[in-house]
Amino acid sequence: MNAEIIAVGSELLTPYRIDTNSLYLTEQLNQLGAEVIFKSVVGDNQRRLVAAAQHALHRSDIVIFSGGLGPTEDDLTREAVAEALGLGLKRDPDILKRLEERFAARGWKMASNNAKQADVLEGATVLPNANGTAPGQWLSGKFDGRERIVVLLPGPPHELKALFEAEVRQQLQAKVPPAFLATRVLKVAMLGESQVDARVAPIYKRYTDVDTTILAGAGEIQLHFKTCAPTQEAAQQRVDEVAGAVEDELDDAVFSGAGESLEQIVGYWLQMRNATLAVAESCTGGLLSERITSVSGSSRYFLGGAVVYSNELKTELAGVPAEMIERHGAVSREVAAALAEGIRYRCESTLGAGITGVAGPNGGTAEKPVGLVFHAVASDSGTEVIQRNFPGDRKRIRQLATTMALDMVRRKLM
Ligand code: AMP
Ligand code: MG
Repeated sequence: MNAEIIAVGSELLTPYRIDTNSLYLTEQLNQLGAEVIFKSVVGDNQRRLVAAAQHALHRSDIVIFSGGLGPTEDDLTREAVAEALGLGLKRDPDILKRLEERFAARGWKMASNNAKQADVLEGATVLPNANGTAPGQWLSGKFDGRERIVVLLPGPPHELKALFEAEVRQQLQAKVPPAFLATRVLKVAMLGESQVDARVAPIYKRYTDVDTTILAGAGEIQLHFKTCAPTQEAAQQRVDEVAGAVEDELDDAVFSGAGESLEQIVGYWLQMRNATLAVAESCTGGLLSERITSVSGSSRYFLGGAVVYSNELKTELAGVPAEMIERHGAVSREVAAALAEGIRYRCESTLGAGITGVAGPNGGTAEKPVGLVFHAVASDSGTEVIQRNFPGDRKRIRQLATTMALDMVRRKLM
């Protein structure tokens, strides 16, 4: 079955608010076996809402509206859906009474515009809203000769979710033919999106029944596989099959096959190897430590480290020889290696990681431009250093540098 979501609200067309309800609703609909084929965001405008509703009713079996059920002039979803379907609105005395009671319980008198929240589409079932004044509505029947389900939900996310869970999910389940959805996510570090796609597209294109999506973030590519099948086992088998083939191709570039973060995987490997880690960070100012310690239980393998921006502290806390900094500069292959080795020695850890670079936007030179970062990992088998010239702003460069260092630690332990 096809579903469509219309998020209503002029605030969602500004730079200040984002439509998050449709993400939640998409997840819920997918779990029920319905595919979301369109999403739209429409401002509080009756004419545009009617047009959006008509388009949606024309092409989708299920149409869910979010928002625009409030008491103010600009809340127009009820009126627009009524117009699009050619249905009347009737003021429901029970809802009106409950609204008045709700206000009275707080010692307030209900303003007259609140009464429109009691307007119900002809033939609709009212969905009580335990967390707010605007109830939802459920309407199913033939529109233009086609069987349709129309659901109106309030905009505030906590109200929408609670209402969906209490009133909508079960009713939809009864209507949507059972289809079982299975998903898999593979995560890849420090490869480009096009690089990954060129290698894996020939594989996932063979699986026409599996939806493959590639999401690219700073230093991380996620491959999402999704399919529906008549049984859970069959669906799972299909996504596992394509994920397995893709993983074979990408080999050890895949760091996670079950949703884990890179930080979690690094923690997992450190514990597997009974190893500990210490870090010395220059241009990332503690971000590497922050990411490692975002994982609960990280004190079992992360000893700590130093944030060393001045040359003096690089020497004092991480044991980098002053003349080395003098000779090669603080941002250099040699200093990165010395940071990793020095902090490993000082902290008596199994592994030491060091980062030094130019995060920008100032401080770059022709020889050492913004984005130049040296990453090092020291162990008893020696020290590996990787140099990168990262693109992007300060935030992105710091994120990429820490991802690189985490991935080097991961590879060292594998
Ligand atoms: P409404 O039901 O249109 O009066 O919406 C009330 C509030 O809920 C708005 O001010 C938004 O902050 C929030 N809201 C409405 N629609 C959405 C949406 N699609 N995603 C996230 N928040 C929303
Ligand atoms: Mg609104």
